[in-house]
Amino acid sequence: MNLCNINEIKALLSRHGFHFSKSLGQNFLIEEWVPRDIADASGAGPGAGVLEIGPGIGPLTAQLAQRADRVAAVELDTALLPILTETLSGFGNVTVIPGDVMKLDLPALVEAQFPGLTAMVCANLPYNITTPVLTLLLESGLFSAITVMIQKEVAQRVCAAPGSKDYGAFSLLCQYYAKTALLFEVPRECFLPAPKVTSAVVRLTPCPPPECVHDPALFFQVVRAAFALRRKTLLNALSAAFPLSKEALAQCIAQAGLPADIRGERLGIPEFARLADEIKKSL
Ligand code: SAM
Repeated sequence: MNLCNINEIKALLSRHGFHFSKSLGQNFLIEEWVPRDIADASGAGPGAGVLEIGPGIGPLTAQLAQRADRVAAVELDTALLPILTETLSGFGNVTVIPGDVMKLDLPALVEAQFPGLTAMVCANLPYNITTPVLTLLLESGLFSAITVMIQKEVAQRVCAAPGSKDYGAFSLLCQYYAKTALLFEVPRECFLPAPKVTSAVVRLTPCPPPECVHDPALFFQVVRAAFALRRKTLLNALSAAFPLSKEALAQCIAQAGLPADIRGERLGIPEFARLADEIKKSL
């Protein structure tokens, strides 16, 4: 069947008595070009094992299965399992894994499903868990590429440069672990039901951690402190988070080569790294 044809989808779902769940972020693709272009952008091909999160009824799964050696698709909604058995019956290289991606043993999954293959992720993510899922995937260090469709606003944050309005702690986290690229937008009419917001596809290509960061835990503590009080100067934001006097912190900022009245939103990874080094010396 055509997994993006709205009439065929409606007939399939009604035959299985399926009802959409808002809390599971269920917005299914109904335009064929979308899963095709996402799979094309993912780099899935011979030698690849692709983890898909939330296959729904399987339109992206089918595209990935046509390109990659293996696809493992994790689906939380048990009501979709019999549907996936039907829609993916033609693909011998797909395994549907029932469960919550946030609770999976990802290293064990990759080892069991993708031996000898290059592991990557490709998904139309449930929007309510975008940030924790991306954090989990990046921190796992297991994947050579992560290509996901997410809310356009979040995609802009993932890819934002220092000083731009979308830049924040999550931009820094993503850019610490990966090179990020916003690939293309997907209008809300491409989904059933249509979400309230536009979507966008981003690719995160994990890379070695920046050498300038010497203490990642402290680096991220400084980043979180700087953005927790976004409207304040960096000095005031840091002083709310670290047990150091304002004078000591002002000296750290100066020693890091930064202007006294700078705001955190203007700093990139090298500047935050220098600042973390100076704070470490004073703690
Ligand atoms: N891939 C399908 C598509 O593009 O049409 C469906 C995408 S839909 C936006 C998100 C899917 O993720 C749904 O099938 C939903 O049931 C599933 N899902 C939601 N939370 C999940 C979780 N924690 N773990 C695994 N799958 C989840």
